[in-house]
Amino acid sequence: MSNSHPYASFQDVSLEYPNGTIGLSKANLSINEGEFIALVGPSGSGKTTLLNTLAGFVHPTTGSVSINGQVVADESIFVPPEHRHLGMVFQQHALWPHMSVGRNVEYPLKQTKTPQDERRRRVNWALKLVGLEGFSDRNPSELSGGQSQRVAIARAIVAQPRMLLLDEALSALDEPLRESLRLELRHMTIDLGLTTLHVTHDRGEAIALADRIVMLDHGHIRQIGTPDDLLNRPADPIVASFFDDATLFEGQCDNGIFRTHKPSFHIPTRLLQTEDGMPEGPGTLAVLPDAMTLVEDSIWRENTAVSPDMDTSSLLSGTVMTSLYGPQVNTVVVKADDLTLRCHITGARPRQGEHVGVRINKGIFYPGNKLPRRT
Ligand code: ADP
Repeated sequence: MSNSHPYASFQDVSLEYPNGTIGLSKANLSINEGEFIALVGPSGSGKTTLLNTLAGFVHPTTGSVSINGQVVADESIFVPPEHRHLGMVFQQHALWPHMSVGRNVEYPLKQTKTPQDERRRRVNWALKLVGLEGFSDRNPSELSGGQSQRVAIARAIVAQPRMLLLDEALSALDEPLRESLRLELRHMTIDLGLTTLHVTHDRGEAIALADRIVMLDHGHIRQIGTPDDLLNRPADPIVASFFDDATLFEGQCDNGIFRTHKPSFHIPTRLLQTEDGMPEGPGTLAVLPDAMTLVEDSIWRENTAVSPDMDTSSLLSGTVMTSLYGPQVNTVVVKADDLTLRCHITGARPRQGEHVGVRINKGIFYPGNKLPRRT
């Protein structure tokens, strides 16, 4: 478990690249000692920029970055990466091919002029920790992808860094190896009490590993929270859409009813969750995949024909685009007008091309005229 001592912090950190691209915009984040933080977000959202700002590979334009109470970057201070004492692992296991496994792992200790006996002891310790005891004399070319990545992890932790930074470190590995390395990595960081920042495009990985998840979009931090927060209480429609595959509807709440026009449907506001008070006025409705049920199109049509008064308000008609089997739930993607709805269902899956009704059972209402600003 992490304690609540803030270990690394970003205060109002913005970064503009020389070509004018905004990498980060006023990012604020406090990381607790021993905490495992996952950075998620679409490609180009600023995940690597945030990590590199902490690592010292880029210098923020404004704001300050601190590690263990020491400012490592602000408008006047810049501590170079080699003096920040951090361990890093990248997606491509960048081992030096002309050095043995042992010499690769030993490298950071040579940089810090650690005595030879201590170096040997620590290399053995790190290799044992990643399950590669006895691999010291091997050549990197003799290793599998998973083994190479273990060596890269051993090299990152051998000098007992203040933090471990992982940039898509597991992304090049195939399942089930990836899953097992994921578990081992988490076990190791807990054992060592290592504060970890992990960039991943894989939501499942972030949910499985992280104490807290930071979601970025266009350089803005959209939400910082536990996996449960992001899954069940997305802070805004962008998080709901990216992280939870929610379908977004722009519409209006009036007299207890939310209405939207394309595609046309309405739903009582008592079925909507909102942060403050009763849903009222214009806003965005986010519907999570679990909040929809599929109704066979023929049944829906028959019922409405027999009973024209039947309440079909929260039903939409659409065509199945994709229907995928999953271990717990099946995912069905339905096209209704211009909208693509992603539904989770159990039981029989409809066929691709089939017409179906989609019932919206509940949703999250975000008041406001339009989607949050994404500059
Ligand atoms: P992510 O890791 O989420 O994919 P990045 O942090 O790499 O995103 O990039 C954030 C934004 O900054 C993107 O628009 C990207 O194109 C831009 N960017 C990243 N590195 C550079 C660079 N060296 N020069 C100019 N723009 C960059």
